[in-house]
Amino acid sequence: MLIEISTHFPTTGGGQLGRMLAASASLLNVDVVILDSGESAPAKQILSPRNPSLAHIDGSFSDPAKIRELARRADVLTVEIEHVDVRVLEEIESEQGIAIHPSPSTIKVIQDKFVQKSHLRDQGCPVSEFIPVDSTVESIQQCARTLGLPFMLKSRTLAYDGRGNYVVREVGDAVEALKALGNRPLYAEKWVPFTREIAVMVVRTTQGEVLSYPVVETVHKNNICHLVFAPLRSSDPSVAENSQRIAESAVKTFQGAGIFGVEMFLMEDGSIYINEIAPRPHNSGHYAIEACETSQFENHLRAVLSLPLGSTALKVPSAAMLNIIGASSSMDEIRTFASTALTVPGCTVHLYGKSDCRKGRKMGHVTVVGDSDATVRARLRPLLSALPGGGN
Ligand code: ATP
Ligand code: MG
Ligand code: MG
Repeated sequence: MLIEISTHFPTTGGGQLGRMLAASASLLNVDVVILDSGESAPAKQILSPRNPSLAHIDGSFSDPAKIRELARRADVLTVEIEHVDVRVLEEIESEQGIAIHPSPSTIKVIQDKFVQKSHLRDQGCPVSEFIPVDSTVESIQQCARTLGLPFMLKSRTLAYDGRGNYVVREVGDAVEALKALGNRPLYAEKWVPFTREIAVMVVRTTQGEVLSYPVVETVHKNNICHLVFAPLRSSDPSVAENSQRIAESAVKTFQGAGIFGVEMFLMEDGSIYINEIAPRPHNSGHYAIEACETSQFENHLRAVLSLPLGSTALKVPSAAMLNIIGASSSMDEIRTFASTALTVPGCTVHLYGKSDCRKGRKMGHVTVVGDSDATVRARLRPLLSALPGGGN
């Protein structure tokens, strides 16, 4: 069985999601062919297909010829990023009859955040107020009158790690906001005064059945996911149930199989809004490799290959995931942190094999498990103080 995976990250130059997927595939004797412009992209380092004629492909996911070459080598095609050329995928789906998961129609809706939010609202999913905006000072100033201040101006496309967001705090910010977001297509969201950010991974089968992972708390720093705590602790037990129900209902509205990450805002009164959905493995689900009975990567594979899904239950009482984010170009800082992490009980180190380090770049993560929240917090303490650049 073959799977093709695009590990092309036009914006981040990464590939850790494909890498962890390939590692998971190796356990099931599933060959994975990777298309990536980097010869030694993170995912390509994991395995070479057993049949040499199925070697990884060097090339861009935006090159239709390369994508067609890839499609000829596989039974199933999946992607690890939503910022892909959907038109080419749609052509391949009809011309070559290959299964593509999630469906290109799903990726098309999700990759434009304004279309995604409109879809969710039309399907009855809870989203906060948002409105279209033109890339003009006047239009942005009009948003302030409609939504109040502050509000969040967002790029509709190609956003990641908050790099398509601009907080408009006063009417006079419109000029700076336009400068920051350039000529990108925009929309605006009302400011959501959430108390916590939460997330649920949901896996969808080819038959449209869904199964969710436990709800987790996500903590962002500089707009990048910093920590994840599993499971979410809340004095109100209905929050966990509601968030899983909302996430499952949202994923049911999309076509095609695979894992989805549903990011949500939890409000003071317990109500929940969906922030955004990723049609792929997600940073908030990495903890599941060590903490759940089946990882998000394995369940993604099982879903796209029409194999039985694995249990999503936690197998430890408490877990946390901490991202290893570059503080500078120093690779030594990453190695030093990893050496410390190896001395912490219950800690598993994941390094992504990226050839160079940059400030703000995801270089790896660690998962810490324990028999209680107190144990996990105590184990996290030395890790937090050993982070590259002091964690700033
Ligand atoms: P990701 O790396 O998760 O794909 P992204 O670039 O797509 O990030 P968002 O998830 O839209 O960006 O926003 C990044 C962060 O900004 C959110 O996790 C949240 O902390 C904050 N944020 C986003 N929208 C709002 C809002 N309407 N009100 C308040 N805070 C918000
Ligand atoms: Mg996003
Ligand atoms: Mg996000």
